[in-house]
Amino acid sequence: MSADDADVVSDPDIRQTPAVKATGERTDTLLQTDGLVKQFGGFTAADSVDFAVEEGELRCLIGPNGAGKSTLLKLITGKHAPTEGSIYYDGTDITDFEPQDRVKRGISMKFQVPSVYNDLSVRENVRLPVQRFATGEERARRIHEAIVAAGLEGYEDVPASSLSHGQQQQLEIGMAAALDPDLLLLDEPVAGLSVEERQGIADRITRLNEEAGIAFVVIEHDTDFVAGIADEVTVLHQGDVFREGPIEEIESDPAVQKIYLGGEGE
Ligand code: ADP
Ligand code: MG
Repeated sequence: MSADDADVVSDPDIRQTPAVKATGERTDTLLQTDGLVKQFGGFTAADSVDFAVEEGELRCLIGPNGAGKSTLLKLITGKHAPTEGSIYYDGTDITDFEPQDRVKRGISMKFQVPSVYNDLSVRENVRLPVQRFATGEERARRIHEAIVAAGLEGYEDVPASSLSHGQQQQLEIGMAAALDPDLLLLDEPVAGLSVEERQGIADRITRLNEEAGIAFVVIEHDTDFVAGIADEVTVLHQGDVFREGPIEEIESDPAVQKIYLGGEGE
């Protein structure tokens, strides 16, 4: 975390809470990208992507290596500026918003590279995002909620370095959730984890989705994991949406199988 991030969530009141939190029902589109293009030099990593997420939805994003999955999430968070196209969030055009203004609006992300502070305890790690916007009793409550969200009760005083890789990933999800997002973006949260650890992460994601109403976009390759958590799956291929649908349909689609084998698809 840099000093620039210090005031990221200094004014949580600015946030608009989507209706899903009040009603428990999906009412609206939360996120929409419109013709999103990202070029790196002459290479097109995102090729006119139209992608939408409903309030409270749990979407998985799959596709072969280099398909543009991480790039799409970085465009949504504002880490990358698009070459062309627009991003709408909760009815607002956020295409030109700074990353911290997107966080204020309710978009939170856990990146592919783990970023917990090894020398700090679980509680101290969780305090970092929370102390930016909450004080006193509310701070204590939110720290506790984030530890529960991470599934790390009983580990509060353990240094992050002593946690398993899976627990560290859980901690990061708790830290991202501590920002009270309406949309949480996770880039390969179970890469390199055991089956048991994967289940721990799946439980964290499912609970935050169902109990806190947080919408998710989760990048993941493992179809068992995806089948266990996702409502709908989006397949990216060569920088654009290739297929969308339930995992069973996607898995049995010969064209999807073909792109994973290194073919060109259709
Ligand atoms: P995925 O996450 O689906 O594996 P990425 O979005 O990371 O794919 O990358 C998509 C393509 O864009 C890859 O070919 C990658 O090499 C390229 N790419 C990603 N980021 C950059 C960058 N900062 N500069 C140049 N090329 C990039
Ligand atoms: Mg990636």
